[in-house]
Amino acid sequence: MPEGDTVWNTARVLEKALTGETLTGSDFRVPRLATTDLTGWTVAESASRGKHLLLRLTREGRPPHTLHSHLRMDGAWRSYAPGERWTGRPAHLIRVVLRTARSVAVGYHLHEITLVPTAEEETLVGHLGPDLLGADWDPAEAVRRISAAPSATIAEALLDQRNLAGVGNLYKAETLFLRGLWPWTPVAGVTDLTGTVTMAQKLVASNRGRWTQTTTGSLRKGETSYVYGRRAQPCRRCGTAIRKAEQDERVTYWCPRCQPEP
Ligand SMILES: [Zn+2]
Repeated sequence: MPEGDTVWNTARVLEKALTGETLTGSDFRVPRLATTDLTGWTVAESASRGKHLLLRLTREGRPPHTLHSHLRMDGAWRSYAPGERWTGRPAHLIRVVLRTARSVAVGYHLHEITLVPTAEEETLVGHLGPDLLGADWDPAEAVRRISAAPSATIAEALLDQRNLAGVGNLYKAETLFLRGLWPWTPVAGVTDLTGTVTMAQKLVASNRGRWTQTTTGSLRKGETSYVYGRRAQPCRRCGTAIRKAEQDERVTYWCPRCQPEP
């Protein structure tokens, strides 16, 4: 499931494959960009902001442009050597192909694919709260934004990318477990919001640079989470059966004993 760390890792894949290279071809398989040709543009930078990917491109005599994409639930970018078979996903899911002399980057099932002048990047990502993995991560600002809606549940507040950018369903559930918070606790009822956002940031940041996500410290299959994906299994701390329920059209997992209803 793409969360902030997955998107950050994906930006590194694109950085390694494309940065500093001039595109020798491009293929957009989305109607709106079907006639776009990025041949001759140079990839200057691959960045992530929350769950958004930003590929910054330059070309002499033209204003810099940014190719934006979003992975949502199931998108992915893969890089291949020229001539190598593309084994990532079925071909009908390909949305973008970017070619250089030494690599090919293929974007599968991407969403919100947009090409804008870099000067207008903020129209795409300006609404986001502080990026958990950004150099400018600002817990006080995240807390200020969350506090503006005191009746929202803390689970909802952590997932809202306008409050802080990069938490998905896995890190939401795990953060709430580690802070002993019942997922439906209203923001106004959380005594230490700073501790809560700091925990979320630590979990996401600790998983940068690898594709297996863990919040327990173990990378062994079946041991990587406290509550997420563990319905009816015993809590690792108290042995109580983990519960699962729908919450705001997502699912949430919690331990009824470690995260009691206030
Ligand atoms: Zn428990």
